[in-house]
Amino acid sequence: GGARTKGPAEEKIYVTVRVRPLSNKELARSDTSDWECTNDNTIASKIPVPDRSPYPSSYTFDRVFGPDCSTHRVYEEGAKDVALSALTGLNSTIFAYGQTSSGKTYTMRGVTESAIADIYDYIQKNQERSFVLKVSALEIYNEVVKDLLTSETNPLRLLDDKDRGTIVERLKEEVVRNCDHLHEILKICEAHRQVGETNLNDVSSRSHQIVRLTVESQPQGLTSESPPAPSLVASLNFVDLAGSERASQTLAHGARLKEGAHINRSLLTLSTCIRKLSAGSKTKGAHIPYRDSKLTRILQHSLGGNARTAIICTMSPAHSHIEQSRNTLAFATRAK
Ligand code: ADP
Ligand code: MG
Repeated sequence: GGARTKGPAEEKIYVTVRVRPLSNKELARSDTSDWECTNDNTIASKIPVPDRSPYPSSYTFDRVFGPDCSTHRVYEEGAKDVALSALTGLNSTIFAYGQTSSGKTYTMRGVTESAIADIYDYIQKNQERSFVLKVSALEIYNEVVKDLLTSETNPLRLLDDKDRGTIVERLKEEVVRNCDHLHEILKICEAHRQVGETNLNDVSSRSHQIVRLTVESQPQGLTSESPPAPSLVASLNFVDLAGSERASQTLAHGARLKEGAHINRSLLTLSTCIRKLSAGSKTKGAHIPYRDSKLTRILQHSLGGNARTAIICTMSPAHSHIEQSRNTLAFATRAK
């Protein structure tokens, strides 16, 4: 956390909440909205919260986006600065966190599209440097890593490289020719993602997807007489997380582990890492357990240190989802 006036780029972890509109399904069963966005930073419960309830009646974040807010605005105010940091050599990560059907994929798709447009715009306008973009994409399901750029489904191993940190063995990386080419690649990757209908047992609710853009740049027109100019390399990660209900059983206030609950190790470890990272200065030198899951190992260098992180927490406004929405808000509170 930090001063509210800071923008996404100055804040180590920029935390926003997006409430989607009530769905047709929710409307059909006369579900009502529990939440109201009282200003750009605050979301409040419409339902009176009893005095001794463990839940606050309102929550404050870097930004709160209500049901009428466009995805483009969510991008502009919640992710843009973090995305553009990668162009200046800072690793950055944008997450969508929330229960299944809360709008993670919907939001990440739009955010990714807007970011790509801005990146190409920047590259075209910046004549001083020449840029090379590469893309890779993977899915983590039950701690098994799969390449989303190929139809090959063999699990990929993680290796520790002395210089580069954790690398995913044999992960395909494509050099992007232009904006259209990148969209083509992302379409292929969506087709490879094991998606079905969004429901609680769907694979997409249990898997994480990471789309990684690697941005390299060098000053234009270098000659042998030019002073050595360092090239900049950074990755920008778009992460569509597994449904947060996969972690909430143990994160919820005093809740006991539900029988048969599918606990997602990567999601739990991510929550712990984010919480410790955001506690930051208070716990300097604290051990961050990146190595406890595949997701956090892969993202390690895009989370701590100088890396920029934006977390967009998505939620349904429906009363029937109040427990999960509170869990999401509790996660978001710990993250800021
Ligand atoms: P998740 O990935 O979290 O499981 P989805 O992104 O698939 O959820 O969203 C569930 C459904 O709600 C989809 O049909 C999606 O189009 C719709 N939806 C999500 N967010 C919004 C929004 N902000 N506005 C309109 N429809 C939305
Ligand atoms: Mg999804």
